[in-house]
Amino acid sequence: MTAQSIVRRLAAGLITVGILASAAGTALAATPDPTLPPAWPIDTALTYRWTANAVPPSAIKTAVNAAAADSNASRRSRAPSYAYSSTAANGVSYGTANPCGVNGLACFSRDPVNRYWHLWFRENGHRYDWGTLLWCEMSGSPNGCYRAETITLDELGHVAGLDHHDNLPDDSDYADAVVQTYSHARPFVGWNASAFGRCDVATLQQVYDVASWTTLYSTCLDIPTTLAISASTTAVVSGGSVTFTATLRSAGTGRLVGNPMTGRVVVLQFRSGTTWLDLVTIPGTTTAGTYRVSYRPVYAQEYRAIFRKPASEGVRTSVSPGVTVRITCSPIKCPLAASGGKQP
Ligand SMILES: [Zn+2]
Repeated sequence: MTAQSIVRRLAAGLITVGILASAAGTALAATPDPTLPPAWPIDTALTYRWTANAVPPSAIKTAVNAAAADSNASRRSRAPSYAYSSTAANGVSYGTANPCGVNGLACFSRDPVNRYWHLWFRENGHRYDWGTLLWCEMSGSPNGCYRAETITLDELGHVAGLDHHDNLPDDSDYADAVVQTYSHARPFVGWNASAFGRCDVATLQQVYDVASWTTLYSTCLDIPTTLAISASTTAVVSGGSVTFTATLRSAGTGRLVGNPMTGRVVVLQFRSGTTWLDLVTIPGTTTAGTYRVSYRPVYAQEYRAIFRKPASEGVRTSVSPGVTVRITCSPIKCPLAASGGKQP
């Protein structure tokens, strides 16, 4: 094994009370977790079994299985999925024989090249020089216990390729990540997280792509988008039908380049003098990232599509270029030709 990425978990006996020091009110933004390369191939299914002679107690088994489900449900990406299998090559160990370091509660090893990974958990009641380790699931959940399900989710995040979140100086973004250098004990913020935080998800999406074209981009990201528009014709008789087709894509980096974005709100606008007014929401089609609507213009007009940044998603507003539709004369409304013309 070449993997040597065992990360020590430091026990958090103290936490800093967050005080927003910025008098200017400058909002600092949370950032996606750093990565722990290399990545697994996208959509990798990782299985685990209990290590012989280091089998966790049932409460820890339950917590590990719950964390695997938490990871699968909250990754919002094509990051590895986790499942128990009695025939798995990789193990989960519990007890005194572990490489977790002097202050570690749990630790991991990963080697995507050789498809190897492993988790270790220290035993309930382990004595550190700062105190005694209590797993909440085994101890009746007193203050100061660590929740094995949440700690497992941190470790599974590492196995997938996440490094510890860089918190803001005041720790105000602690809840944005489960993958933390200092795990919090009960009852401090984040002690009982059952889902990846938005900045864990952000990195999983950057490394492994979004789960599907309808998956929302983590709000810990700030991904530009592009919007194109085309018209079925740029000259119609008054009241004739024009079909507008808009295509929305992400314009990020890595795996987030050029993804079609399905299920978003794209609006057709028309120009009114120097401003643009909303005309109609353009329905999505069965083609990923494509939206289409028919409209019957009466006047010559310039149109464009707009996608507005939703509060629920870490992507930017985009507008398409304009497309002008001219009105041609109809047989009925056509003026007579200047000399000798006849209307039919
Ligand atoms: Zn960690």
